[in-house]
Amino acid sequence: MQARELIVIGGGLVGAAIAFGAARAGAPVTLLDQGDIAHRASRGNFGLVWVQSKGHKVPRYARWSRDAVTFWPAFAKDLLELTGVDVALEQRGGFWIGFNDAEMQARGAMLAAIDGAVGVPYEMLDHAALRERLPAIGPTVAGGSFCPLDGHANPLLLLHALHAGLKALGARVVSSIDVTQVTCLEKTSGFEVRGRDGKTWHAPRVVLAAGLGNKELAPQVGLHAPALPNRGQVLITERLRPFLSYPTNKARQTNEGSVQLGYSVEDVGLDDGTTVDAIEWIARRAMATFPVLSSARLVRAWGALRVLTPDGLPIYQESAAFPGAFVATSHSGVSLAGAHARIIGPWFAGLGAAPDSFDVFAGERFLDPNRSFSNAH
Ligand SMILES: Cc1cc2nc3c(=O)[nH]c(=O)nc-3n(C[C@H](O)[C@H](O)[C@H](O)COP(=O)(O)OP(=O)(O)OC[C@H]3O[C@@H](n4cnc5c(N)ncnc54)[C@H](O)[C@@H]3O)c2cc1C
Repeated sequence: MQARELIVIGGGLVGAAIAFGAARAGAPVTLLDQGDIAHRASRGNFGLVWVQSKGHKVPRYARWSRDAVTFWPAFAKDLLELTGVDVALEQRGGFWIGFNDAEMQARGAMLAAIDGAVGVPYEMLDHAALRERLPAIGPTVAGGSFCPLDGHANPLLLLHALHAGLKALGARVVSSIDVTQVTCLEKTSGFEVRGRDGKTWHAPRVVLAAGLGNKELAPQVGLHAPALPNRGQVLITERLRPFLSYPTNKARQTNEGSVQLGYSVEDVGLDDGTTVDAIEWIARRAMATFPVLSSARLVRAWGALRVLTPDGLPIYQESAAFPGAFVATSHSGVSLAGAHARIIGPWFAGLGAAPDSFDVFAGERFLDPNRSFSNAH
């Protein structure tokens, strides 16, 4: 067991980015992942690199999200140079689209509050001004907001690049390991991680980054991570001629031409299937937003489970009872990936400082109703 060794449990976007950052900082890393039986948000998401509207009422989260997206260009470049994988980052800004005045007013007030608190630039645009930037919008669109820091990337290529990067940095990546037990070893003050098949791993530091799996693992090392599933259904069209130069919250055209249409927000437990109702609702809304989509063929629809805490904010924390054990549970795993790699990985590996004021992200907030912020994401 080497002094800086780190075991990361969970090879989705959160665990892989943290493991990558730790390995990049020089830590010997072992990544254990459940493999094909897992629920994986990272393989079903929308690919936005997004800050606008994040952290309303929780300025630390707004600042964290803003910093994370500003890390993205260097992060994508590093992945490209190390692995040869281009994650298709485009970051020239992004649009939210509104359909009525009430929505527009609420949006404007929220973005003004976030900008005032931490400095996230934005513009509110009426229909005519929005149409100048997005000529394809439909007549029923009321307007939109623009944030120049936003963008999008290919989330599957990001996951691939992180795993390739880990291998390039000499990390051990072990698949088909369903971790059932994490135990603190008194004699060595390190941790034993045990898989369902009885195999064990040992290290002085362990990170729980198992998405929905964190809920079961966290109490074993004195942590609290009440991650809940929330289904999002997403559609994708055939490849179309370029008509959308920026990502929006309702549709984004990939660099290959296909258009990803999103997304539902559904509380249906662990069901990651699709439904005709949600597919129809997403398709109708997308056609109202961009009428050119009315003649596009859909080629695929899928459901995936978000990893959401009850207030939508992440949990990042070292265990007070078992120092050396850490937890990371987070939505927005694409947007935050650069920060997970640059800040969280080195912190958890003992090679970087904990970010300031991060006690706001401790899991105990869910045990104390006065500290929890509802719908803050
Ligand atoms: C529909 C949808 C749209 C989204 N859109 C966006 C977006 O546009 N932008 C954005 O930033 N974010 C988006 N997200 C959120 C983003 O996808 C997630 O924040 C991110 O994927 C979470 O990554 P994760 O690694 O925590 O979880 P997961 O991807 O769920 O991965 C968890 C991993 O842990 C492993 N695991 C679980 N239990 C165990 C165990 N016991 N032992 C070993 N391994 C284990 C699993 O094998 C799995 O690989 C979206 C999510 C969804 C569902």
